[in-house]
Amino acid sequence: MNTLRDPLLMPLTAEHNHQQCVSRALNTAEQLCLNRGVQLTAIRLQVLSLIWADHKAVKAYELLDRIKPLQSAAKPATIYRALDFLIEQGLIHRIESLNAFVGCRCSGQPHELLLLICKQCEEVEERAALEVMHTIANELTAAHFIVHSKAIEIQGICGKCALQSLSESST
Ligand SMILES: [Zn+2]
Ligand SMILES: [Zn+2]
Ligand SMILES: [Zn+2]
Repeated sequence: MNTLRDPLLMPLTAEHNHQQCVSRALNTAEQLCLNRGVQLTAIRLQVLSLIWADHKAVKAYELLDRIKPLQSAAKPATIYRALDFLIEQGLIHRIESLNAFVGCRCSGQPHELLLLICKQCEEVEERAALEVMHTIANELTAAHFIVHSKAIEIQGICGKCALQSLSESST
């Protein structure tokens, strides 16, 4: 089990108590912001919990749709400002290739990571991949390259979806 290498991340399984993910993420966010002396305002918290509706990558306009029934005055700029804050605090990840966002599953610890993006269900899995990242860091240093974003995005089909299509094709 290579998941043992990274105690921060729980494997993302189909059958899991997602309410636990949500309350864990929101509690972590509240605690962190308190410790850092930054304000987790109502709108920031609301955007964060809307992102945590599931483990799928969500676009800013979709968040706007989700927040409208709760805050009819919400504007795109409101959402973008909240997103910027959440990224800054390491509470969410931006997925550049989709121009979308996902809740960070190991919030609070600064981390470099692999983002595994399923093209079918759009869920995003995080892997810390410490060895890979260490190797990359060495290469970057050798190249004197100044890095802006170190997340590596990998597109494909997740284990759950692969299993599902396998069972569908066998019936
Ligand atoms: Zn969950
Ligand atoms: Zn993360
Ligand atoms: Zn999938």
